[in-house]
Amino acid sequence: MDKRSIVSLCRHDDITRNYFHEYAESMGINVDFCPLVSRTEKDVVEAAKGYSAIIASVEPYTREVFKALSPELKAVHRFGVGYDNIDVEAARDFDIAVMIASGGNAAAVADHAIMLMLALGRRIHLYDRATRRGEWIQRPYSQLSGKKVGLIGFGRIGRILCGLLSGFRCDILVNDAYISDDVFEEYGIRRAEMNEIASECDFVSLHVPLTEETRGLIGMNFLKQMKSSAFLINTSRGPIVREADLVLALREGLIAGAGLDVFEKEPIDADNPLKEMDNVILSPHIAFSTLEANRLTSEIIINNLQSFFDGRPCRDVVN
Ligand code: NAD
Repeated sequence: MDKRSIVSLCRHDDITRNYFHEYAESMGINVDFCPLVSRTEKDVVEAAKGYSAIIASVEPYTREVFKALSPELKAVHRFGVGYDNIDVEAARDFDIAVMIASGGNAAAVADHAIMLMLALGRRIHLYDRATRRGEWIQRPYSQLSGKKVGLIGFGRIGRILCGLLSGFRCDILVNDAYISDDVFEEYGIRRAEMNEIASECDFVSLHVPLTEETRGLIGMNFLKQMKSSAFLINTSRGPIVREADLVLALREGLIAGAGLDVFEKEPIDADNPLKEMDNVILSPHIAFSTLEANRLTSEIIINNLQSFFDGRPCRDVVN
């Protein structure tokens, strides 16, 4: 493989970048780092011209981008698993492989979802603020142990989360039309319709990819069926939830709160109403990123690209 043919356009932190660089070098591969400041199609084309592989973040990979980078570009590898920012069909038309680091960050995201459930249930963000202000308030809130949890999407992340929730003795309901009954049996979980999940669960956590089918999946129709004591967790993709409906549901007390790692627009606007709400916990699309997950993801990517360019089969090619 051409040693100078891979470029990363991700804004890696120093630790991840150094590890990625060292691991690639140890495998005899050079990666150039060109973190994008802004994330337009033009920026992608300028930064990646002439390279045969790109390590991609969430910048747009459209038909125009592939046309401009063809025929040199052979692969776009996400530093992660979601690939809703990539026009997969256009990539196929230009004979460009789209690859993901499957399983690289699933444990990190599952941890993050559990953390949001625990923190929301116990209002730890409010206790932290009050304690710093010198207020010593001791009010009982709700625990995760023994609760009914709904998982929408039961792939890599959903399954790891299921294992963690079993440790909390939770009753787990799952909506995922694309998996067989064997999986339900294997994990000891119950298949449920969306309305059952909405009306029965204490926590609802989203783990589906963003597709035309899942865009706007959670709107007022779903939220108004939820219990007023229930929480919504979204570590998946922002546009899966209609944010205006969620704001309304939170304001009107239709649900108790939300834990959000992803948003319709990222970074969120200064005047996003979610920022002023005490019943939400926000994080900046960081669920994927732990030291361990970033190391594992770096290794998966380098191994995948090596297999791909050596002409060996690679399970992480999605097109
Ligand atoms: P996965 O592909 O392993 O699992 C997704 C599951 O969703 C599959 O089982 C699929 O059958 C199911 N599904 C698809 N459409 C559905 C629908 N309409 N209704 C119900 N189920 C449906 O993916 P994963 O690794 O578990 O990741 C899930 C998503 O999480 C990714 O697509 C990505 O968008 C997001 N993610 C976010 C972060 C973050 O940092 N916040 C990190 C990693 C992944």
